[in-house]
Amino acid sequence: MRIVELSTRRDQLPVRRAEVASEIIALENEKQGLEDAVERARLDRRNREGELEVQQRQRDKYEAQLNQVKTNVAYSALLTEIQGAKRTIGELETEVLELMDTIEQDTNRLAEIEVELAQKREAAHDELQSIDSETAALDQQLATEERRRNLVAEKVDDQLYRVYDRLRRVQRFPALVPLHGSACGSCHGYFPPQVVREITHHGRIYTCEACGVLVYAAHEE
Ligand SMILES: [Zn+2]
Repeated sequence: MRIVELSTRRDQLPVRRAEVASEIIALENEKQGLEDAVERARLDRRNREGELEVQQRQRDKYEAQLNQVKTNVAYSALLTEIQGAKRTIGELETEVLELMDTIEQDTNRLAEIEVELAQKREAAHDELQSIDSETAALDQQLATEERRRNLVAEKVDDQLYRVYDRLRRVQRFPALVPLHGSACGSCHGYFPPQVVREITHHGRIYTCEACGVLVYAAHEE
């Protein structure tokens, strides 16, 4: 029973370890995603600004040409071109401002994440260390209990041990229960007087047919 209890506690430790690390992994993923987004936004911004310069030069060129055209048709055609360039310039400027906004927000969040990550890593460091030392302690206790168990098992009659081992494997604990009056201490089913006598007078360890546990005579009975 002690070994099962220790093993159960031991099995929970890797789960706890994964839980502790999961917050750090989530933050690292968010950080990576934001860094990629910022890089894309910067590249995008450079492209837009390049396009903006082209459009501005185009507009200046058209405006310079206004003084040189001879016909009304050519003049209004140039005005249309200038309006188009100005509209595109306006759109590009808005996009550049939006990208700058995004970059600023993402950069701020990245700074927050760095702080959170440092805190979580420090907090997790202590917790992970305590999980590690708990693991080592439990492993040691388990080894000790297993050794004790094996020493006792060697002394047990083979047939009795096989019955016990079946109960142990299905974790039917306690596998051994004291006789309770003339009944099984586990399921409280009554035994025939002859069986009770064998248990109490001859120290027999009896397998309860009803529930399968091993029944022995407690000293006070
Ligand atoms: Zn029983």
